[in-house]
Amino acid sequence: MAGKSVASFSQEFVCEKFGEFYRTPSNVIPAPAAIGQREFAFLLFRERAMIRHRSVAKISHLRSLFAESVPSDVYHSCAYYETPEADMDKKGWLGADLVFDIDADHIPTSCDKIHDEWTCSKCGFDGKGVTPETCPACGELKFDAKTWPCERCVGSARDETVKLVDILEKDFGFAGKDVHVFFSGHRGYHVHVEDEAVKQLDAMARKEIVDYVYGLGLSILDAASEKTAAKERGPHVFSLHDYGWNKRLKLGMQKFILNATREDLRSVGIKQNVEAILQNKETIAKRYIEENRWTNVKGVGTETWLKIARHVKDHESAKIDTVVTTDIHRLIRMNGTLHGKTGFKKVEFPIQNLANFDPLREAVAFKEGTVKVSVSSAPEFRIGESMFGPYKNQKVELPTAAAILLVLKGRAEVVKE
Ligand SMILES: [Zn+2]
Ligand SMILES: [Zn+2]
Repeated sequence: MAGKSVASFSQEFVCEKFGEFYRTPSNVIPAPAAIGQREFAFLLFRERAMIRHRSVAKISHLRSLFAESVPSDVYHSCAYYETPEADMDKKGWLGADLVFDIDADHIPTSCDKIHDEWTCSKCGFDGKGVTPETCPACGELKFDAKTWPCERCVGSARDETVKLVDILEKDFGFAGKDVHVFFSGHRGYHVHVEDEAVKQLDAMARKEIVDYVYGLGLSILDAASEKTAAKERGPHVFSLHDYGWNKRLKLGMQKFILNATREDLRSVGIKQNVEAILQNKETIAKRYIEENRWTNVKGVGTETWLKIARHVKDHESAKIDTVVTTDIHRLIRMNGTLHGKTGFKKVEFPIQNLANFDPLREAVAFKEGTVKVSVSSAPEFRIGESMFGPYKNQKVELPTAAAILLVLKGRAEVVKE
């Protein structure tokens, strides 16, 4: 939350709007599967208090609760419990969905240094771009981060989600109907797998899935890179079969080779035989990758292939937040509810729309009216079909959704009239 920087009048205004949203029947909030077995939790707008261990039998109960108490953020457990309202150790864990969180916070982009900044909570050291895990000056773990739901950054989270969904469907064989994709309401996407096959998986099993998605410990890259192993197996150590990660590497390497420029080869660490590779692209792609004959082109040996394969692996793996997936008690934002940092909704959309989904249109919750705000600073941004900003110390009249976003991001205050 923007916290202290939000003047109380602005906060009251946004809280009022959130309340209206939850009292409007046409704002549909879908019930999660097995609603009676979920723990619900929410952060109250006015009190800034987290309410946990709630359970409800019906979605209508939850709706009246939201209309009365006005939460800034609503979550439910990815887990199913016998007694969701009991203390953590007495809930009776029955299973959990397999959930993935892909957030721009974890993906470096070319623009994050322009719109994101962080300040160490302890020593005040600050910087721009992705917030570090620990403070470079004092080692502190807590930061005050100012981020922005930038269209390009949200787009890079979407690209990671496309890779994740492809792995879940093709490599794990999950059916499209069991894989649910959501815009988180802020800077990323959530993927929920609701399938009997995953319900009982423990944290260790989920970690295995995370490692696979990340391509961690991929044996072809680790074993073959050790010189001793290479010596034992001889020069023909490199080979790839046609399923799972092997297939992903193959297709990725083929694409890489066929499109490679001098610069691309150098960037993956290939310094020798650059010209030979560039001149024989087609042959190399065909003979090596299609026909699995990994020798015969002069000067292109196992080490070269490993360099390309490692690069392709980094490119093809999906950059998920690993902690979320392994936590079998995780609370995850509830579909259809508002995000307290933006005023956007978390929204589900069909998996086949992933490439064309426009969160800055589909997730807009407040579609009516305008509000006069005094903006301290804001980058240029889009909501729906309209562009706004950049602003610096100025008063503007904005559509409600844009005004709420700026207030929640601590960049504007509502002007009293
Ligand atoms: Zn520090
Ligand atoms: Zn950005």
